[in-house]
Amino acid sequence: MTIKGSLLVVAILSGIIAVATPVTKASAEAGNRITILYDAFGTDPKMTKDWGFSALVEIAGKRILFDTGDNAEIFAANVKAKGVDLTTLDFVVLSHRHSDHMAGLNYVLSVNPGVTIYAPKEGFGIYGSSLPSSFYRKDDSLPSEMRYYDGKPPEVMKFGSAWTNAHFELIDQTTEIAPGITLIALVSDAPGTRELKELSLAVNTSDGLVLVVGCSHPGIEKIVEAAAAINPKIRFIAGGFHLVVAPDDVVMRAATALRDRFKVEYVAPGHCTGEPTFAALKKAFGDKYLYAGLGNSISLGPNPGPDVRRGEGPAPEDLATYRKLAAREDPFGIMKSRGLRLGAHP
Ligand SMILES: [Zn+2]
Ligand SMILES: [Zn+2]
Repeated sequence: MTIKGSLLVVAILSGIIAVATPVTKASAEAGNRITILYDAFGTDPKMTKDWGFSALVEIAGKRILFDTGDNAEIFAANVKAKGVDLTTLDFVVLSHRHSDHMAGLNYVLSVNPGVTIYAPKEGFGIYGSSLPSSFYRKDDSLPSEMRYYDGKPPEVMKFGSAWTNAHFELIDQTTEIAPGITLIALVSDAPGTRELKELSLAVNTSDGLVLVVGCSHPGIEKIVEAAAAINPKIRFIAGGFHLVVAPDDVVMRAATALRDRFKVEYVAPGHCTGEPTFAALKKAFGDKYLYAGLGNSISLGPNPGPDVRRGEGPAPEDLATYRKLAAREDPFGIMKSRGLRLGAHP
């Protein structure tokens, strides 16, 4: 082959490579998606609606189960209806210790007992915990039978978990658990859930940060603020924003902050976000509000959107079920007292 010929081959090959590289990247990104496996609104007749949250997050080559819903049987049925394989998960994240996010864990463990579960580290929490034995005051003057561990405590005291054989990794503070994948750890200071620790999942992609929140007890704005510290370009937020009983001014403030202050590109709210907040976010985000009903898969690729429909709020028939189920999550007793005040049945 002449030099000219070789150069031509090199040129053609490099052309192929130049074309092939973005295609590989695009197809990898096209597989990035979030599928809602547990929620109280949606249009998929094969799925059972119930109060709670779970989503399968497929991103950055990982399959992550974020939360496990409110009831193991309903969760199992929804997982099967969607044909989701839980045996090949990379890991599970339990956002916080409320039952509407973790009751399906028994089902996960029945099919995948060895899976790693990231959960918030809380003193004497349900996921188990530990403390150095130096935490308690000692009194050497006591006879050994009056002393803890006969006066010879282990260096680290371990406290049990409700799931004895499960492989928990407890997260105390914001941690990057895999390249580009961070668990944001924050604590709620809202009345009713004070000191509750919650994990949110932040994945840094080339398009910006993808954020998945469970119930946002520490406050959606606080969580987004922490996420923006990782990457100020927030591409996408899905999950529960916990504005289910918030008054209009709080709802408006949150919607405006997400759009104008944090410049969030897409929102896919669900769970405890609340009906008036769905409406406010739909108004604020227009077609960048992605409908994330139970059973929907939302592509996180170059053009995020549900595989079914986009830019729509919940279907009217969902709202009746949603309202009924929303009454179940009432940690502050607000809805109950409102119902009593209006003379309605609690
Ligand atoms: Zn909660
Ligand atoms: Zn919740």
